[in-house]
Amino acid sequence: MTRGPGFLRETGDEAFRAGLRDWLAAALPVAAGDRLGTADLHGLAFRREWEDHLCRSGLSGLGWPEALGGHALSLTRQAIFHEECARAGTPLPVNMIGHGIVAPTLIDYGSADQKQRYLPRILSNSEIWCQGYSEPGAGSDLAALATRAERRDDVYVLNGQKIWTSFADIADRCLLLARTGGGESPRAGISVLLVDMRLPGITVRPIRQITGEADYNEVFFDDVEVPADCLLGEENGGWRIAMAAANYERSTYFVPRIVRMQAELDALVLLAAGTFRHGQRLIDDPAVRSTVTDLSLNVQALRLYADRILEMAEQGVPPGVDGSSVKLLWSENHQRLLDLAMDILGPDVVLGPQERSAPAEGRWNRDYLWTRAETILAGTSEIHRNIIAERGLGLPR
Ligand SMILES: Cc1cc2nc3c(=O)[nH]c(=O)nc-3n(C[C@H](O)[C@H](O)[C@H](O)COP(=O)(O)OP(=O)(O)OC[C@H]3O[C@@H](n4cnc5c(N)ncnc54)[C@H](O)[C@@H]3O)c2cc1C
Repeated sequence: MTRGPGFLRETGDEAFRAGLRDWLAAALPVAAGDRLGTADLHGLAFRREWEDHLCRSGLSGLGWPEALGGHALSLTRQAIFHEECARAGTPLPVNMIGHGIVAPTLIDYGSADQKQRYLPRILSNSEIWCQGYSEPGAGSDLAALATRAERRDDVYVLNGQKIWTSFADIADRCLLLARTGGGESPRAGISVLLVDMRLPGITVRPIRQITGEADYNEVFFDDVEVPADCLLGEENGGWRIAMAAANYERSTYFVPRIVRMQAELDALVLLAAGTFRHGQRLIDDPAVRSTVTDLSLNVQALRLYADRILEMAEQGVPPGVDGSSVKLLWSENHQRLLDLAMDILGPDVVLGPQERSAPAEGRWNRDYLWTRAETILAGTSEIHRNIIAERGLGLPR
C-alpha cells in the first residue's frame, strides 16, 4: 500500500491515531482558510471541498481491499479515522452514501464490470451517490414500495416516485429499489438498480426543511430507460442486498456523532456558564446542572455502546438490538441537548444563521431544528423500540 499519507502504514493503532491527528492539524487550517471556526466550515460547499481533498490525499477506500485501490484498514482503524476527524472539527462528508453504503455493497454484490465502472469514481469522489429507497407510501414499511422497473429488451423502464432522497439534487447516481416482479411476498419482487441521475425522465424537486436548507428531495421517474446491466445482483433479489447495505456503516456510524455530541455538550456548559438569569449563572441552576449531568452520563454510555458494537463487528457480528439502543440513545439525547440550549438562550433562540447578532452564528438554532429529523432517519424511534421490545426483550408483537 503506497497511496496516502505515511500514518496509514503505521503498525500500531496509537501511532496511526497520532499521525492522523498531526496530518489533520496541518491540513484542515490550510484547506479551510478563513472559514475555520465559522459556520461556513459546515456548509455544503466546504463539505464537498474537504471530502475531495481527503480523496486527493489518498484518504478514501479505507476499508476496501487493496486490489480495488483501498487500504484494507480494520474497522477499529476506520473508527479511529472518523473519531479523529470529528475531534478536529472537520465537516460531515457529502458523499457518505457513496463511500459508506454503495461502495461496500458493490464490493460484495457487484459484477466485475460494475466494480470497475463505479468504484474508482467513488474513490476519487468524482461521482456523488444518493439512495432511493423511501416513497410516499413506503418508509418504515419499505417492502410496500411501488416504483416499478419493467424489463423491455436491454433496458428497465422505471416509473414511480421516491421521497426524502438526500443529496439527489447533486447526485450523479442513485442506489435505487424498484419492484420488478410480483413475488410471493412484497419483499420477493424487489431489485436494486444503479441509476444514472442524468437519464431523461428523472425530475428532482428539493424539499425545503424547517432549517431553511434543502437536504433532501422528491424524485420522479417517468419512463426512465435504465440499461439492464445496471441491475445489481439478481432480478427480484434486491431485498437481501438492501438489508446487507443497511449494515455496512452501522459499526462506525455513531463514532463521529458521539464525539460531536461531547463537543456540543462542552460548548453548552460554557454557554450556561456565560448566561445569567435573575443575577444567577445558568450553570448554577439545579435543573440545568441535573440535565447536563444526565446528558454527560448518557454520552459516556453511548461511547461504551459504540465500543461494544465495534468489538462485535470486528468479530463479524452485526449490531442488532445494540444498534437500535445506540440509535435511540443518541438521537433522543441529542434532541434533549439542543432543547436545553434553547432554554439557555431564552429569547435569542429565534435568531437563526441569517441574523448577524445570533449567538454562535445561529448554529444552536439551526441544530435544534435539524435534530427533529434524527429520530426519523435511519429508522424511527418507534421502529427501534419495537426491535428492542421484540428481539431484545422477547415481548410479543
Ligand atoms: C434527514 C433524513 C434523511 C433521509 N434520507 C433518506 C435517503 O437518502 N433515502 C431514502 O430512501 N430515505 C431517506 N429518508 C427517509 C427515512 O428513511 C424515512 O423517513 C423513515 O424510514 C420513516 O419513514 P416515513 O417518513 O415514511 O414514516 P412512516 O413510516 O410513515 O412513519 C410515520 C410514523 O408512524 C410510526 N410507525 C410506522 N410504522 C410503525 C410501527 N410498525 N410501529 C410503531 N410506529 C410505527 C413511525 O415511527 C412514525 O412516527 C430520510 C429521512 C430523514 C429524516
